[in-house]
Amino acid sequence: MNACIITIGDELLQGFTRDTNSEWISKHLLDYDVHTEYKVTIPDDRPKIIQTLKRAISDQYDFIFITGGLGPTHDDVTRNALKLFFEVSTVFDQDHHEKLVEWCHQRNIIPPLNLESQSTILSGSTSIPNPVGSALGMSIKYDGSQIFILPGVPAEMVGMMQETILPKFFLKSDFSRFITLKTVGKGESKISEEISDIIHDFETDVKIAFLPQYTGVNIRIKRISKRVGIAHTVANLIQKRLKGLIYTNEDHALEEVVGKMLRLNKLTLSVAESCTGGWLSKRLTDAPGSSDYFLGSVIAYHNNIKKSVLEIPDTILEQYGAVSEQTAKLMAESICKITGSSIGISTTGISGPTGGTLKKPVGLVFIGLAYDGQVFASKFNFLKNRTLHREMSCTTALNMLRLLLLENFSNTF
Ligand code: ATP
Ligand code: MG
Repeated sequence: MNACIITIGDELLQGFTRDTNSEWISKHLLDYDVHTEYKVTIPDDRPKIIQTLKRAISDQYDFIFITGGLGPTHDDVTRNALKLFFEVSTVFDQDHHEKLVEWCHQRNIIPPLNLESQSTILSGSTSIPNPVGSALGMSIKYDGSQIFILPGVPAEMVGMMQETILPKFFLKSDFSRFITLKTVGKGESKISEEISDIIHDFETDVKIAFLPQYTGVNIRIKRISKRVGIAHTVANLIQKRLKGLIYTNEDHALEEVVGKMLRLNKLTLSVAESCTGGWLSKRLTDAPGSSDYFLGSVIAYHNNIKKSVLEIPDTILEQYGAVSEQTAKLMAESICKITGSSIGISTTGISGPTGGTLKKPVGLVFIGLAYDGQVFASKFNFLKNRTLHREMSCTTALNMLRLLLLENFSNTF
């Protein structure tokens, strides 16, 4: 089955808002074996909406998703454009309207006049409840295509998809068709070399794609033959070959995987961050339940804080500098001592664009790890782009921690 997604909004075309709606929809449709074959973003413009929908219908997509412009403001023209296109009248949903008015009263808000448009759907369509907002969505069958009309607000679109559309209109497909193995620590060309024989041996059964990012490479395995379960077989072979390079075969972030390992082993963690400025702590606390193992952090950005809070001696900072193996080690040890955590991590580097020297260029970073009375620090030279440098430093720190846990504890993945 295939799908087409039409996102509507001037702001999407002008670059002020990223079209995350179509990303979300197309990604989630894959679980149901529905493939998005056409995506288009168009302005809040009636003739454009009509013209685009006409084309999508003549191209005979099984599903057509339209998001944006359902609201009450003057620039929300989707409902009217569709009314013209389908040549239908509208139906006022009294119940929904009353609910919205009641909602306003409970909060001491005078109900705005435009609540009426939020409660109006096209006749012949079925309304889709909105669990987090006011505008109703709609579904309508037309010329063989099932069309869904949804608000532009991402949380409202997601709420409708999760609560009504996906469970009601779609059937989960055989999960083993798609498997993603997430790796960290090696480039795509090296990885593809290491598994080239597997790719070759199963080329008629699975399609293997490498999706590289600066923070790791995802290997996507898609079954293309009728051999059910073959994607799992290939995934297992690749996992055995690449061993510790793969941190998950599910949709988990690196920080969640590391968090799970820490929790399993009843370990605690604390962080001393310089160049990453709190980003590493942010990522660690992105994982729900991270208070089980993450104790806290010190952002020792300025040398004064390295000295006063982390007690890094003046002599070390003067002799080796703040960005050095010695400082990184002491930072990791010190944060362990301060918080009483079982493991400490530290980052100290030069993210740029200024501050680099010949001996210590922009991109340099030292990451320290203290555990069980031992401490070490590794040196890296990452990209000279400030954001990427910081992001890669965080990912590498998390990966160093993951590798330490893999080495020391057998009950981890
Ligand atoms: P509302 O009833 O809130 O007005 P709406 O259906 O009219 O909803 P829009 O006015 O088009 O939706 O957009 C509402 C908000 O959602 C805006 O901030 C807009 O930038 C954002 N938005 C719209 N479409 C998308 C999209 N495809 N991806 C991400 N954000 C979007
Ligand atoms: Mg709007």
